[in-house]
Amino acid sequence: MKPKEKFQELCPTMSKIDDEKCVKLLFDMKWPGGYICKNCGSEDFYFIKGRKVFECRKCRIQESLTSGTIMHKSRLPIIKWLKAMYLMRKNSNSMSSVKLMESLEISYPSAWRLKRKLHEIKKVIESLPTNHE
Ligand SMILES: [Zn+2]
Repeated sequence: MKPKEKFQELCPTMSKIDDEKCVKLLFDMKWPGGYICKNCGSEDFYFIKGRKVFECRKCRIQESLTSGTIMHKSRLPIIKWLKAMYLMRKNSNSMSSVKLMESLEISYPSAWRLKRKLHEIKKVIESLPTNHE
């Protein structure tokens, strides 16, 4: 079985996720009510695609999608975080580190750390749609 097929089998709703969807999802998680600048409160922003950074049009403060989230400074690609979240969601937040390791093709220590981190955001995971399109 190819790794991709394995993942799709585990989590069919995530099979079509790409970078753009990742960004949208993270954006919705970070700013559920729409973008608000943490510095000046403005709701006007640019999105700098290449760096996945948002810049306030007023004060020019930049904020990355992952800052202030558990993904900040993680070496794991965002897409793997998202996949992990969806896998957790699908399995009602109970998934072994071994299963995470296999599904995401990461090392056991990474899977273990990931699992602990995901536990911190249990509430966020529970609020994810089960059939995200
Ligand atoms: Zn601002």
